[in-house]
Amino acid sequence: MKYETVIGLEVHVELATESKIFCSCSAHSFGADPNSHVCPACCGMPGMLPVVNRRVVDFGMKAGLMLNCDINRVTTFDKKSYYYPDLPGAYQTTQWFAPVAVNGRVDIETSAGKKSVRIKQIHMEEDAGKLVHDISEGTTHVDFNRTSVPLIEIVSQPDLSSAEEVEAYLIRLRTLLRYAKVAECEMAHGTMRCDVNLSVRPEGSDVLGVRTEMKNMNSIEAIKRAIAYETERHIDAIENGTEVLVQETRRWDDAKGKSYAMRSKETAGDYRYFPDPNVMPVVIDDEWFNTIQASVPEFPEVKREKYIALGLTEYDAERISESIMLCECFEEASEACGNPKEVVNWITSDVMRILNAKQMTYEMLNLDNKAFGKLISLTVDGKISRANSKKILSAMFDDRTIEPEAYAEANDMLIGEQNDDMILDIVKKVVESDPKSVSDFKGGKEKALMALFGKCMKELKGNCDPQQLKVILLECVNNA
Ligand SMILES: [Zn+2]
Repeated sequence: MKYETVIGLEVHVELATESKIFCSCSAHSFGADPNSHVCPACCGMPGMLPVVNRRVVDFGMKAGLMLNCDINRVTTFDKKSYYYPDLPGAYQTTQWFAPVAVNGRVDIETSAGKKSVRIKQIHMEEDAGKLVHDISEGTTHVDFNRTSVPLIEIVSQPDLSSAEEVEAYLIRLRTLLRYAKVAECEMAHGTMRCDVNLSVRPEGSDVLGVRTEMKNMNSIEAIKRAIAYETERHIDAIENGTEVLVQETRRWDDAKGKSYAMRSKETAGDYRYFPDPNVMPVVIDDEWFNTIQASVPEFPEVKREKYIALGLTEYDAERISESIMLCECFEEASEACGNPKEVVNWITSDVMRILNAKQMTYEMLNLDNKAFGKLISLTVDGKISRANSKKILSAMFDDRTIEPEAYAEANDMLIGEQNDDMILDIVKKVVESDPKSVSDFKGGKEKALMALFGKCMKELKGNCDPQQLKVILLECVNNA
């Protein structure tokens, strides 16, 4: 018998706000001492009252609009009760009755074709703390730095049917949320986490099989392996009766390549959801809603088409539209210098090379894009040599305040009014000092000319139009 896999995903994404969801503690504690980013509110001390961080609602709404959701204009917070040592209040403040966004859609494309994955809802909630197990001491410590860091949970309908579709969906989610600049979405950093709900049924059946939930996958590759394993396990149980499938939560062990039962699947009733009386309902008025809607960026496809219309190749348009930071760099620099084709060449060569060397992702690009455009203009106009412009660009990566023309002038990199006589003097000196290269060149060794060219450029400190230098050098060598 043929089977089909039915998959729904719950994706937790850490929002990139400065502070936590209900207090003013910093939400960024990477590398900080344990319990150094905490206050009585996020430690769940009795009598402390939470205050909703407006930026979290901004980001939640924006994420919802990116995923084609309807926004609940009155959105409320609820208590989800459970006990665990990393949850100081013994409940999580989340959204159950009126989440910020509902009824969305994410479009994906795989080898099986195009598909729309329905989004059931996006809710805002607080993260829990972290338990740190010290094996040598036989003790467990608790770190509350992460408690109340804002999350959104994106719940899909069970519309996915393969690991390939899950991969396409997660990559699309990541691209859209990064475009909206609401989240980093880096699975390796834990800022995007994904639980997989999976069941198997005979192909064509409309009855869902027994569903298991898998946790603890740290990469898209691990998720794909977990789906393959779990699908196989379900089919084996159905066909061969190797085990009785039960609705449960399972832990994926990527090193062993297996999933293990963690706990029987809890139901909503177990959590005793009820409205959190300490958090006022958030009312999103027209002005607020319109401001957020106006800040939603164009989708990657729209940008790609626009770039192709500007004369970029499909390949380059695709590469630039992959990241909103590259898009902004391209658009702002093009506007500053009026030469989009030149800008894309610089981005795909120099900018990407420097990012790579610094082990930075596209999202970490922090250039002053207008100044970058100006640097390109100065180079195209022959005021700065290409070699020196690379050095200036490198410096601009480290210091956003650099103004290219002033920097070039201060560092003796500005090519003044071209003075042929001055260049000629230097070239003559170089040619006279190296008769061997001259005779080698005359004897047919092309490379010898490059050696002379390099020496001249060095004497000129790179402040010379290479074409102009080549003409003068050739003339000099032939007359020597
Ligand atoms: Zn706090």
